[in-house]
Amino acid sequence: MANIIDGKAIAAVIRAEVAAEAAALTVQGVTPGLAVILVGEDPASCTYVRNKQKACLEAGLYAEQINMPATTTQEELLAKVEELNARTDIHGILCQLPLPRHLDDKAVIAAISPDKDVDAFHAANVGHIMIGDHRFLPCTPAGVMELIHRAGVTVEGKECVVIGRSNIVGKPMAMLLLHENGTVTICHSRTKGLADICRRADILVAAVGKPKFVTADMVKPGAVVIDVGMDRDENGKLCGDVDYAAVEPIAGAITPVPGGVGPMTIAMLLKNTITAARMQNGL
Ligand code: NAP
Repeated sequence: MANIIDGKAIAAVIRAEVAAEAAALTVQGVTPGLAVILVGEDPASCTYVRNKQKACLEAGLYAEQINMPATTTQEELLAKVEELNARTDIHGILCQLPLPRHLDDKAVIAAISPDKDVDAFHAANVGHIMIGDHRFLPCTPAGVMELIHRAGVTVEGKECVVIGRSNIVGKPMAMLLLHENGTVTICHSRTKGLADICRRADILVAAVGKPKFVTADMVKPGAVVIDVGMDRDENGKLCGDVDYAAVEPIAGAITPVPGGVGPMTIAMLLKNTITAARMQNGL
């Protein structure tokens, strides 16, 4: 039986820590503020944005949701980002992805001031992460590291395998494990012998986007298994990239879906907003 890493409980602890910090900053005259831009009405994006807004308000942050129609032009979106860059009451800005197809997400990310880039997607922040000199960490990989730490797992010297190489999860995830002296292998859709590589892992992180992709035969007994996936199973039910029922009896520790990595992502976003507010006010 694996140790179940309770992301919901750990995220609640972090959110309470954030609330205390937000209250202390507010006393000093700075209420940390986050602006979230939502373009269009994609149902999943609407839910994510609503959850972010709610979490901010619960933690005592100022939250502003900016809804723009799906017909918004690139120029209009960039102008909105510029307006938010200039505001002193807004310390963090994020633009919910994916954007409607006619909009260029790279240009939008590049337009967000690196000091307000609480998603840590801007090339300047990605560079800082690469050289181990970060201001913000990308929320999902940072949340995974918190789960690993708070579960009492040490990364140093461990075989770490990350499945997935996206810019928002897989690549930064691998970098954070490397910074903590893990021996890291990144796998992707062209990897040969994936199951053999995964079976070597002391720490296995799945960020594939395919329901129940990681099966029991891919997991070393006692491994720490972190499931980043947010997928739907054959019945439309939320599930992860790991076949939880089959893997849980083998793993040493495992994150469930829901209740694992998901709640951590929002908690880390709040933490980054606090960091941004501090930085912009020299605190
Ligand atoms: P993504 O951009 O689609 O990347 C998926 C990665 O998986 C790619 O690198 C792809 O390889 C790799 N892959 C696909 N099929 C594979 C296969 N058969 N064998 C090995 N690798 C394979 O997805 P993402 O944005 O990183 O997200 C991954 C999952 O995490 C999704 O379920 C997403 O919903 C979830 N997610 C959750 C949170 C959270 O807060 N919990 C946050 C972000 C994302 P190639 O590069 O070769 O195509």
